[in-house]
Amino acid sequence: MGLDFVALDFETANRSHASACAVGAVRVRDGQVVDEYFTLIRPAEGLNDFEPGNIRVHGITADVVATAPGWTEVYGPLRGFIADDVVVGHNAAFDMSVLLNTCGAHDIDLPVLSTLCTLQLARACVKIPSYSLPWVAEHLELPSFDHHDPLADARASAMVLVALATIARASSVADLSEYLRVPAVPTWTERDDMLFAQLTAENDDLIGTGFAGEVVCFTGALKMMVRDRARELVVEQGGRWQDGVTKTTSILVTGDFDERTFRPGAAFSAKLTKAFAQVGAGQKLEIITEEAFITRMTIGEQELRARLGARNARTKVPDWVVTQAGNGPGEDFWEWYRRALAHPSGRALGGEPCIWCEAPLPAKTHWIHRDRHVCGAYCNERLKRGARRAWDREGIPVRSVDWEY
Ligand SMILES: [Zn+2]
Repeated sequence: MGLDFVALDFETANRSHASACAVGAVRVRDGQVVDEYFTLIRPAEGLNDFEPGNIRVHGITADVVATAPGWTEVYGPLRGFIADDVVVGHNAAFDMSVLLNTCGAHDIDLPVLSTLCTLQLARACVKIPSYSLPWVAEHLELPSFDHHDPLADARASAMVLVALATIARASSVADLSEYLRVPAVPTWTERDDMLFAQLTAENDDLIGTGFAGEVVCFTGALKMMVRDRARELVVEQGGRWQDGVTKTTSILVTGDFDERTFRPGAAFSAKLTKAFAQVGAGQKLEIITEEAFITRMTIGEQELRARLGARNARTKVPDWVVTQAGNGPGEDFWEWYRRALAHPSGRALGGEPCIWCEAPLPAKTHWIHRDRHVCGAYCNERLKRGARRAWDREGIPVRSVDWEY
């Protein structure tokens, strides 16, 4: 087995991770790109407003995706492209979150995949001031590329993995993962159960882990949030903040650059220049953009939500999924399925408690989640699995609802 994997990159329309609007993927065999996949995606109703911050990063608008296929058409070919490969991404937690949340918003069962993150691999292997993809690529002397074009990003992260494997003298993805002590992680379906088993037992403080142990400093004008709120979020995610860069600062968030402009060769402020020098002098400090800060925080919030879910979790599927199921599916399977899972009080407007974890439902979410009063893909998956077990117990005949690809 050589260096074989699929590298993947998603872009989203807005801050919802269910709003995938483009995906690029490359298949690598023996360290060479042998196939590519790219498509624009038209996000589902309720998830399709393109926010200015996202447009600024990737340049994709509602007009651009007006005639693009929706997720139910994209998923099959994409899943087929990935097949049994390890999925590689730069900040793979984000790309996996988009894949799972977008699946969840379309009632597609969450795929079980193994993922490896080139951001973590790079952190374990080389010392540079920023691990944003253009910086890692530059450090590894890879050709420059159009950052946030999903196919270009997928190719770049593939080449990063191959270059890191050369440095580490690893001849396979598994070797590289072992040498650098960065394990491949399974997607949420399996991790879920692990997380729940660990967390239901203890009544720990509900603090996120997005910035656990980090000392965060902000520089420049933030575009998407005010600095006070950003500082609060750091604390909510287990970190501390500082006014100025010191010897203990571990993350510097720069508001002056976005994901496209923060790259080697740009002109930097005195504060950033000083930070680069401190990294050169050996300080463990990482410089990230506001977008990267928000992504990290969002993933931390999802983890927090999972822990809240573990604490408040229902242990039993709600009775209505059985009573509403009647004698089982008739002619129209999906019509029956969705009616059986719907909350008896009707479509939620936002703010109602999730039936599993009691977290307030987000105002912006897919109608499937609003019909079932679930907060997202994660709790929706638990409802679907619980319902299937309950129907099975009650002898309600249900054909497999595994998504075919
Ligand atoms: Zn929930």
